Amino acid sequence: MDQAPIVTRFAPSPTGRLHLGHAHCALFAQMHGDRFLLRLEDIDPTRCRPEFEAGILEDLAWLGLRWEQPVRRQSDHLDDYAAALARLDSMGLIYPCFCTRKDITDAGNAPHGPDGAIYPGLCRHLSASQRAERRATGQPFALRLDMAAATKRTGPLSWHDRNVGTVVAQPELFGDVVLARKDVPTSYHLAVTVDDALQDVTLVTRGEDLFASTHVHRLLQALLELPVPAYAHHRLLTDAAGRRFAKRDRSLTIEALRKAGHSPAEVQAMAGFSESNLQ
Ligand code: GLU
Repeated sequence: MDQAPIVTRFAPSPTGRLHLGHAHCALFAQMHGDRFLLRLEDIDPTRCRPEFEAGILEDLAWLGLRWEQPVRRQSDHLDDYAAALARLDSMGLIYPCFCTRKDITDAGNAPHGPDGAIYPGLCRHLSASQRAERRATGQPFALRLDMAAATKRTGPLSWHDRNVGTVVAQPELFGDVVLARKDVPTSYHLAVTVDDALQDVTLVTRGEDLFASTHVHRLLQALLELPVPAYAHHRLLTDAAGRRFAKRDRSLTIEALRKAGHSPAEVQAMAGFSESNLQ
């Protein structure tokens, strides 16, 4: 019997031009898949810009990457995230959180998780009428996952990472994560999980800086009854001084390297891939 094709994706946010670190990520994804998809993670309207989106498509094509159509743009699919939130709400697993950053800091001594301070749970304890009252005043609110209730519901979970094998999910490290922000009706964790399922991605490839996020994504898959892809978290490409590439490193954007006269093959090699390992 034929094996199902491996579907991978590259999912950049159009908040700047792509640099060598992104090129590594994109080439890694394409190399590991039989089918390769592109997704633009543009849910943050304050940081994402159309010119960066155009730049991403231009840079990837110049580098020699070929992806299937259509490209999924997250801002076109807010209904999908709303449907997932409605489902979690019907299960009694999310609650509105009106706290400001200051409220959380003032609550004192919050231990830190992979996404920063663990939410001390202030709004988890509001009664239904207190919630309704605050909503009525028009106070902005985020939606948080009640982590204890969610993990109790699913029981223990694990996923398979190609580099480290079976990983026991520890979503509780994050506390009550935000699933919809005050300014955006979804969050990275929710949108990525829903999209990977809707795009039939079977192997999620991304940098090891996002390894811990998979704990939360695995939990959301279980709650929303979504298929569970395999994972490959790769090492992050670093510059000569051992530092990660960042958007601030203008000289090492794909655009700058192209304008400096480098060929696509040279930039692929700088991103850690030579012709032979891309065949
Ligand atoms: N959009 C994320 C980023 O720009 C990557 C998402 C993912 O691969 O899960 O780093």
